[in-house]
Amino acid sequence: MKKHFIALVTIAFLQSLVFGQSSSDRMDFEAYDPPSSLVTPEHIITKSKYPFIDIHSHHWRMADQDLSELIGQMDKMNMQVINNLSGRGGPALKAMMDNVKKYGYEKRITIFTNIELRSIDEADWVENTVKQIEFDHANGACGLKIYKSQGMDNKDSKGNRIKISDPRIKPIWEKCAELNMPVLIHAADPKQFWEPYDSLNERWLELKTHPNRKKDPKEYTWEQIISEQHDLFKQNPKTKFIAAHMGWFPNDLAKLGTLLDQMPNMYVEIGAVIAELGRQPRFARKFFEKYQDRILFGKDSYQTDEYPTYFRVLESDDEYFPYYKRYHAFWRMYGLNLPDEVLKKVYYKNALSLLPNIDKSQFPD
Ligand SMILES: [Zn+2]
Repeated sequence: MKKHFIALVTIAFLQSLVFGQSSSDRMDFEAYDPPSSLVTPEHIITKSKYPFIDIHSHHWRMADQDLSELIGQMDKMNMQVINNLSGRGGPALKAMMDNVKKYGYEKRITIFTNIELRSIDEADWVENTVKQIEFDHANGACGLKIYKSQGMDNKDSKGNRIKISDPRIKPIWEKCAELNMPVLIHAADPKQFWEPYDSLNERWLELKTHPNRKKDPKEYTWEQIISEQHDLFKQNPKTKFIAAHMGWFPNDLAKLGTLLDQMPNMYVEIGAVIAELGRQPRFARKFFEKYQDRILFGKDSYQTDEYPTYFRVLESDDEYFPYYKRYHAFWRMYGLNLPDEVLKKVYYKNALSLLPNIDKSQFPD
């Protein structure tokens, strides 16, 4: 009997060596995405519980856009104010503002301006850029947006990468502080973009589908860009900075909390990182409670069908529900069930205190 058993096991082992694993037992990571059989209460939230301000949006064609269409979409989801970070500056910004005024939506649409860093070597760069910011402010711009290329890749005329903490830019940050214009800055990207492209990389699928997002650590490291950004915040304590995408620490909220403790002029917004929060609902809720005055609602890409996922993570106590892009999150998420007072701060109160020109009467107390 025992002999028989050993013989059978040996045959099976030899078969596996000869034929390998049968193809039906192998499955692509990308193909394996079974619908969940879990049955729990579901809350699909198409309209936020309180009116909200989206601090991180991009509308490049705002000068000739049909704004009533945009406002109609905003109303459907309870977005009271949208902040267009792509104001461009100068006459382009003025043209956008003129269109907003023409439609009569000054209370619903705010605009941040942009500046050009690549011409930083020109003798009159500081003077011209300060003048532009004053012009933009006079025309209604209420903040400045720094793009990720500017916090990472831009080079000066000698081919040197411009650090975002470059002392030549300091007069600009001081001007923003003087005019009470917060600076929303996107520096670096998810850390995994710098890491080896292999089975241990959490963003493997994103790097596969978007290979141009891969970063070469020989050029500069993630840590380098992030620390230059923090130097900038520390060197300009009077300027208020909103770090986009939770400063790329949404997956290490304890560290992010330490940074917020160290830099009282630093704020964060949650654009494109909601799946990070949804995979740690208990710890994230504690973080939101502790830092409730420092977090703003932002979305980045303006896709109206994606907002309900944000509402569901922030407001509901739903369990194990999917994010809408598998390359950002192959995991499922859980609602944070934030208390009303915290929700109100994240949705509008914190943005109102950073942007005092927004009419507060559009929002509840
Ligand atoms: Zn953006």
